Amino acid sequence: MPAAPTNLYDLTREELTALFTRWEFSPVHVARLWNYLYWECTDSLAAMPELPAKVRKRLEAETRLGVLPVSLETDSTDGFTRKYLLRLADDARIETVLMRFTGRVTACISSQVGCAMGCVFCATGQMGYTRHLTPGEIVAQAVHVQRALRQPPPELCHALRDKGAAARAMAGGARLRNVVLMGMGEPLHNYEAVMKAVDILRDPNGLALGAERITLSTVGVVPGILRLAREKRPVHLAVSLHAATQAGRAALVPAAKKWPLDELMAACRTYSETTGRRIFYEWTLIEGKNDSAEDARAVGRLLHGLPAQVNLIPLNPTQGYAGAPTHTAAAKHFQHILMHEFDLPSTVRQRRGIDIAAGCGQLAVNA
Ligand code: SAH
Ligand code: SF4
Repeated sequence: MPAAPTNLYDLTREELTALFTRWEFSPVHVARLWNYLYWECTDSLAAMPELPAKVRKRLEAETRLGVLPVSLETDSTDGFTRKYLLRLADDARIETVLMRFTGRVTACISSQVGCAMGCVFCATGQMGYTRHLTPGEIVAQAVHVQRALRQPPPELCHALRDKGAAARAMAGGARLRNVVLMGMGEPLHNYEAVMKAVDILRDPNGLALGAERITLSTVGVVPGILRLAREKRPVHLAVSLHAATQAGRAALVPAAKKWPLDELMAACRTYSETTGRRIFYEWTLIEGKNDSAEDARAVGRLLHGLPAQVNLIPLNPTQGYAGAPTHTAAAKHFQHILMHEFDLPSTVRQRRGIDIAAGCGQLAVNA
């Protein structure tokens, strides 16, 4: 069987350079292609007139541009959130969310089709695991969002391509600035592909996402957290905690049976010590389950002495879980305890995109 054509979004710039060297094409064409891929966000090889015909022909014969076609696009009535259902080459679907809150443009991207971790309140967990995404499928989601955001006239785009970042920023059309790996899937279960995608997203001549602009959220895959620390990966880390006792956590997050709370907290400590970075701890607030004053104190004690910020996420509805979200007043009280008794900063995530099931834990596709 012939090898499947290489997805161009799977390649780092170094790999693309190596390929062009092997093909004996000038490195000038690498720069041009990279520009098309990540600055113009061109959606087909045929629309790259600056590449000589022989380069384009070879690319067409031996590679493919893994643009993800949109199966469905929905806008929330909140005016800030848009959700894309994107189709992969094998016909599987994933969801990607574009958020524009307070001037920040953020893409929430997926790392897997489904998820193997089975958190009880999460729609992705409820659908089960199908497969990992490739680096190119992860990258293509961010490119899709950037393409959608940046719709300046193509001539302007073209004219500014060699003029540097400042001129580009002037070109109109918003620039994607933040990426959160908080869509479908557990990113640390798909470590290699996710890290390669992060490298591509950060390439200074590409989407050029700053180190401070990529956040990865994990259910608590201990070996993955330790590896992130060891490799000093330039991402922010968010850890989904949800309960401050092993038993409480295991009831919500089955992965806690594999990576118990004490091991998780030890890994988080190592991560913060090695990288000097604060971790965001996520806490889905479920009425009557993990939202009492005592729960808040238990979190405060658990995180004592760690560089931490708590992100409180009132439960979003999903089909497979009957719990209710904590009311605003109770969430405020929770925050108050964290701040005043433990000096622990926290935020309550705004509920956005709920009407189109684009909130945390609501992403899922029908098999
Ligand atoms: N797999 C990763 C990232 C994706 S989920 C993780 O679990 O961290 C992103 C965040 O949404 C996680 O903190 C997750 O626990 C939370 N979440 C899942 N389902 C939710 C729901 N129904 N309501 C609110 N938050 C939810
Ligand atoms: Fe997977 Fe995260 Fe959902 Fe848990 S919360 S099932 S880890 S996507």
